[in-house]
Amino acid sequence: MKLSYNRTKIVATMGPASAKKDVLMSMIKAGVNVCRLNFSHGRPEDHQKTIDIIREINDKYKVNVGILADLQGPKIRIGLVKDGGIHLANGKRINMTTTECIGDDNQIYITYDTFPQDVKAGEIILLDDGKIQMKVIETNKKDLVVCEVVHGGILTSRKGVNLPNTKVSIPSLTEEDLVNLDFALANDVEWIGLSFVRTAEDIVELKRIISRSGKASRVIAKIEKPEAIDNIDSIIEATDGVMVARGDLGVEMPLEEVPLLQKMIARKCRAASKPVIIATQMLESMITTPRPTRAEVNDVANSVLDGADAVMLSGETSVGEFPLIVIETMAKIVRNVEEQGYPFNSIKAPYDKVAAANKLSNAVCESAVHMAGQTDAVGIVSMTFSGYTAFEISSYRPKANTYIFTSNRNLLNALSLVWGVKAFYYDKTESTDKTISDVNNILKKENLVEVGDVVINTAAVPIAKQGKTNMLKVAVID
Ligand code: PGA
Ligand code: MN
Repeated sequence: MKLSYNRTKIVATMGPASAKKDVLMSMIKAGVNVCRLNFSHGRPEDHQKTIDIIREINDKYKVNVGILADLQGPKIRIGLVKDGGIHLANGKRINMTTTECIGDDNQIYITYDTFPQDVKAGEIILLDDGKIQMKVIETNKKDLVVCEVVHGGILTSRKGVNLPNTKVSIPSLTEEDLVNLDFALANDVEWIGLSFVRTAEDIVELKRIISRSGKASRVIAKIEKPEAIDNIDSIIEATDGVMVARGDLGVEMPLEEVPLLQKMIARKCRAASKPVIIATQMLESMITTPRPTRAEVNDVANSVLDGADAVMLSGETSVGEFPLIVIETMAKIVRNVEEQGYPFNSIKAPYDKVAAANKLSNAVCESAVHMAGQTDAVGIVSMTFSGYTAFEISSYRPKANTYIFTSNRNLLNALSLVWGVKAFYYDKTESTDKTISDVNNILKKENLVEVGDVVINTAAVPIAKQGKTNMLKVAVID
């Protein structure tokens, strides 16, 4: 079965390797659906330039590339250290201090003011993606923590710190995040990612700020802490989308638990009809080589089979040597699974938190997907303003193309993250019959359907009321 476009979407992190217009343009042609701006790196003016280029490409080439602004959240780092780094030998003692200094053999600065108050003797400190491990010996509960090196190595400046056992009291949105959030909202980004989410309240608070600013940005909860795993159901209920952030998750949790956690989170997100991104180290070796390892190819394919809406690239596209080849490779892997491996993930798990008001329209969406299968329909064609119908239809993973028409400009790009969805702008509401014939004609003009093709149209009748989807039509294109 040939597909006209990838069902599983590709998110590419922007950086010096990809932010040039011609490179980004070719990456988008090769399959990038969403560009991620990582606010842990880069200056605001660089992010602004990238946003402007993406918007320009969208306008000029009539594509709907979305933007995901990824806030750093309560990420902890060490400060600068002396040239050449610090050699931490096993068994050695070293102080972590909250007073800013250049780290040396005696002390290292940590960017976490209340660390001495929050941490307890015996707790584990992981540095540089878990490569270096230390244990807390004692704390003066003021500004100094004595540690012992368990697994040593060379520690260089600004490396990340993970505290898997510590109850970290840093707020979920730091002052720096609030500044970056303002910037992202001013630019009307479609998605905002929040790192190190711990509870549903973290998401609710972010959403409160977004709605107070009058913006429509949607939220991605990055799952990378044990607390988030404990609270996964309420977090999924509160958020608009999720990222399985395997980089930090695999440091904060035992590594070997990540594969099943990925499957569990993907299953729950799909049950709730919320998009899920699988992230980090998917094609890591391609940062420096043009061919991935076979294990990486399997990882991308298995993530598609697990039910990901999107697969993400980080260093591969932001600082790697082969940003375009990476996208081509990822698109080929994804497409092969989708074309040869369908139907996969055909069963959607039940979700017990569907609002009563949505139960009928959910039934119509599910029926549309079922009917499309029965009639070998080329497309499921729907109208939505809120996006609800698009998320819902997508969650049943239809074999048919999913064509969504909307007058909601922000939604147009936001849907680029959602499995199988291709969105179009349409803003007339004359009558249901007229709209259905209009949208089917648009698809015909775009050569996406041809005379004799079956499509399943859904609509909300009466159309002027902009209510919930309540109608299905089996149409033959004439
Ligand atoms: P990061 O998030 O790249 O912002 O750390 C993803 C991850 O932790 O996997
Ligand atoms: Mn992370």
